[in-house]
Amino acid sequence: VTTQRKPLPPAPPPLYVSWADFLEKAPARDIKRWCTRKAEVANRKRLISGSPLERLRPPEVWDVMRAAEGRCSHCGSLALERRPSNPLTGAPLPWDPVGRRIGSLDHVVSRVDGGLNVFANLAWSCLWCNTWVGERRLGAMDHGAIQFGRA
Ligand SMILES: [Zn+2]
Repeated sequence: VTTQRKPLPPAPPPLYVSWADFLEKAPARDIKRWCTRKAEVANRKRLISGSPLERLRPPEVWDVMRAAEGRCSHCGSLALERRPSNPLTGAPLPWDPVGRRIGSLDHVVSRVDGGLNVFANLAWSCLWCNTWVGERRLGAMDHGAIQFGRA
């Protein structure tokens, strides 16, 4: 039996084509706000793993993003976009067409297995690889992956 996914709508043009392009275009206050938000999410109490032993700070999120130069550590796609939302209502839009472009923070050893909120246990990841572990393939070109602009 073969299963076929519904065809994805075409991905919109990328917001950024390289790490340098991101640094040039993204306002520092937006990056800071993004890192703050990611730290808040990482510090949340979770149903199974409870409260984290280590509190992550926004500068550490930035360290992870910068060390990776915005590339997903699993597939290599430039992952520096946010989840898309309707510009008028703010309602979330389907993100799978650009899933490999959306930046997220991944735990190398997951929190439920005792992994800590520390730099050594964190990796930059696209949301696709962070969500669908079985679809981590270096050089993947699907779901809006951006594999160019490595300068
Ligand atoms: Zn990825």
